[in-house]
Amino acid sequence: MLVVEDELTSGTERDPTGAHHSVSRITLHQVLSAGLEGALHHGKEFERYARAADGTVTLHFVDGTTATADVLVAADGANSRVCRQYLPDATRVDTGIRAIAGKYPLTEETKRRLPTRLQDGPHSVLPPSGCGMFIAPHELGANYAPTERGIGGNDETAARDAVLFDNTGSYVMWAYTASSAKYPHGDAELSDMGGERLRDMVGTLIADWHPSLRRLVAESPAQSVSLLPIRTSVAVRQWETSNITLLGDAIHSMTPFRGIGANTALRDAQLLARSLIAASRGEVDLLDGIHDYETRMIDYGFAAVRRSLRTAEQTISTNRVGRSMFKAALRVFSVIPPLKRKVFSDLSSK
Ligand SMILES: Cc1cc2nc3c(=O)[nH]c(=O)nc-3n(C[C@H](O)[C@H](O)[C@H](O)COP(=O)(O)OP(=O)(O)OC[C@H]3O[C@@H](n4cnc5c(N)ncnc54)[C@H](O)[C@@H]3O)c2cc1C
Repeated sequence: MLVVEDELTSGTERDPTGAHHSVSRITLHQVLSAGLEGALHHGKEFERYARAADGTVTLHFVDGTTATADVLVAADGANSRVCRQYLPDATRVDTGIRAIAGKYPLTEETKRRLPTRLQDGPHSVLPPSGCGMFIAPHELGANYAPTERGIGGNDETAARDAVLFDNTGSYVMWAYTASSAKYPHGDAELSDMGGERLRDMVGTLIADWHPSLRRLVAESPAQSVSLLPIRTSVAVRQWETSNITLLGDAIHSMTPFRGIGANTALRDAQLLARSLIAASRGEVDLLDGIHDYETRMIDYGFAAVRRSLRTAEQTISTNRVGRSMFKAALRVFSVIPPLKRKVFSDLSSK
C-alpha cells in the first residue's frame, strides 16, 4: 500500500504565506542580482583570505586577483572554503541517505498523462517502510513571460544543459529517497551511473507503485535525473566574533527534507543586513552587531538543521510504528493549518 500525503506546506488558507509556492533558483538568483550591476563580479573563484594588521581582510581568487574588505560575509554554500579556513572544526557528515531526483516536463500533452492531483501541489509518497518520494509541481501559469530585463528567462546555465537548467517550462519535480543500503548498487557505482540508468533503477524500485507514479519517473528526460547524496552540517559552538562571518549553507547546511535551507539563508541575510546597516550608521558597534546576528543565527539555524535531519530519518525509517506515527502527524498537521504553521514555520524555537 502507498500513502500519498498532501504535503505539509500546501495550504487551503486565504493567507498566501500558508500555501506552497515553487520558486525557481534561476529566477530567484536573477531577482536578487537585479540592480547590483557593478557591485557583483562574476567568474571569481575564492581560494583563501588573509588578515592584515589594520584588521581588513584580503580575499585571494584562483585567477590571482585580490579584493580587500572591512567585513567578509561567507555565502559560498555547503562546501564553503571560507568556513574551512575560518572554522576548521565545523564539519558536514554523510547521512547515508541518497536521493535520485528528476523533472517531468508539463506540456499540454504530458499534463493529460498525469493525474491532476500530482500537478496541483506538493505531495509525499510514504510506502510502509524504508523509502519515500517527494513530488512538487513548478507551474508557470498561462501568463508566464520573462520580464524585459530577462527575469524569469534562461540564464547562461541553459547553454550547459538545456533540459536540466531550462527556466522557461513548467514541470513536476520528483525525488526518490532511501538509505544507501536500500539501493541495488554501492555508492561508487551509483555516482558513475548516468541519468538513464538512475531513472531505470528507480523504475525498478517502484515497480509495485501506482502506474501514475511510475509514469512520472519513466517519462522524465534522462538529462534531468541525478543522484543527490544527502549530507548535513554538525552544530558548532559559538566562536569569537570577528569581521568575518557566515550565512546560509556555508554554516548550517541541512538535508532538503523540510525545504527550509534557502529560507533560512534568506533569514540570515535579512538579519545580518540589519546589523551591518545599523553599524554603518553608527547605531551599534560593528562587532556587537555581528555577534548579535551570530548568536541568533546559530540558534535557529542549527534548530532547522536538526529538524531537517529528523524528517529525513523519518522518511527512510524502517520502523513501522514510528512511520505510522509520522504519517498520522502529517495528516493532523495538514488538516489543522494553524498547528501546521506553528510546527513547521517557527524555526526559532528548539
Ligand atoms: C535537492 C534540494 C532541494 C532543496 N529544496 C529546498 C526548498 O524547497 N526550500 C528551501 O528553502 N531550500 C531548499 N534546499 C536548500 C537550498 O538549496 C540551500 O539551503 C540554499 O541554496 C543555500 O543558499 P546559499 O546561498 O547559502 O548557498 P548556495 O545556494 O549553495 O550558493 C553558494 C554560492 O557560492 C558560490 N561559491 C561556492 N564556492 C565558491 C568559491 N570558492 N568562490 C566563489 N563562489 C563560490 C556557488 O557557486 C554558489 O553560487 C534544497 C537543497 C537541495 C539539495
